[in-house]
Amino acid sequence: MAHTIEPASSGRAKCRGCGQVIAKGELRFGERLPNPFSDDSDMTLWFHPQCAAYKRPESLAEVLEGSGVDDEAALTVIIDFGIQHRRTPRINGIRRSPSARALCRSCKEPIVKDDWRIPLVIFDDGMFNASGYTHLSCVLEFFETRDILERIRHFETEPLSDEDLAEISDQLN
Ligand SMILES: [Zn+2]
Ligand SMILES: [Zn+2]
Repeated sequence: MAHTIEPASSGRAKCRGCGQVIAKGELRFGERLPNPFSDDSDMTLWFHPQCAAYKRPESLAEVLEGSGVDDEAALTVIIDFGIQHRRTPRINGIRRSPSARALCRSCKEPIVKDDWRIPLVIFDDGMFNASGYTHLSCVLEFFETRDILERIRHFETEPLSDEDLAEISDQLN
């Protein structure tokens, strides 16, 4: 079955991209995939359209045009960017490193405690799996762009203070 964009029939489904509830009546994107637990059925993963534009750009692009989502033009820009910069859909926010145990996926050096790190996820078999971290200072090397601030902010799990944001923007520029 093809992917779909349709109003949420209840307010219970959570977005696979950000983990937040999709409000009843809001347009949501449904990515249809073969069900790994059954040979002859599909499963549908629901997303806010904006979260899908960031994390599942190719799939959303298949059904976005003329779907009635209000910010179609803005979402198309996000989709094209993610397709051009193939690793950016893996970005899942930003956190200060709680320890010095993780190695950066880009430079392979440890990410020291309290340094900013970008969590990565890889979509596989209908799930996003944690796939390590990169230094904020390795962003250009790893993602081939520094233009990721909005994407980081979209998936931030704790609100960033103005000071944090200034520090992050500084390191990205
Ligand atoms: Zn979402
Ligand atoms: Zn690094």
